Amino acid sequence: MRAQVGIIGAGPSGLLLSQLLHLQDIDTIVLERRSSYQPTINTL
Ligand SMILES: Cc1cc2nc3c(=O)[nH]c(=O)nc-3n(C[C@H](O)[C@H](O)[C@H](O)COP(=O)(O)OP(=O)(O)OC[C@H]3O[C@@H](n4cnc5c(N)ncnc54)[C@H](O)[C@@H]3O)c2cc1C
Repeated sequence: MRAQVGIIGAGPSGLLLSQLLHLQDIDTIVLERRSSYQPTINTL
């Protein structure tokens, strides 16, 4: 049985979790409430 995981938020945690699950061949869908990028991490 294939599972699809919904992840709320496309911040660093959500994107990392999506990538880790992808490496385990688990499908994810990331839902982000903001439509534009507003950087808060100034060191990158
Ligand atoms: C002012 C400020 C400056 C910072 N500067 C730095 C820095 O210079 N360097 C550094 O390393 N760290 C910095 N940080 C810390 C860094 O931003 C956090 O550690 C990091 O963003 C946490 O990632 P996260 O994925 O857990 O949460 P977030 O980055 O907050 O991501 C959560 C995402 O979920 C979305 N979301 C929330 N609720 C919903 C919902 N109901 N439906 C859909 N989407 C939703 C939000 O829009 C957001 O995009 C700073 C933080 C702040 C507040």
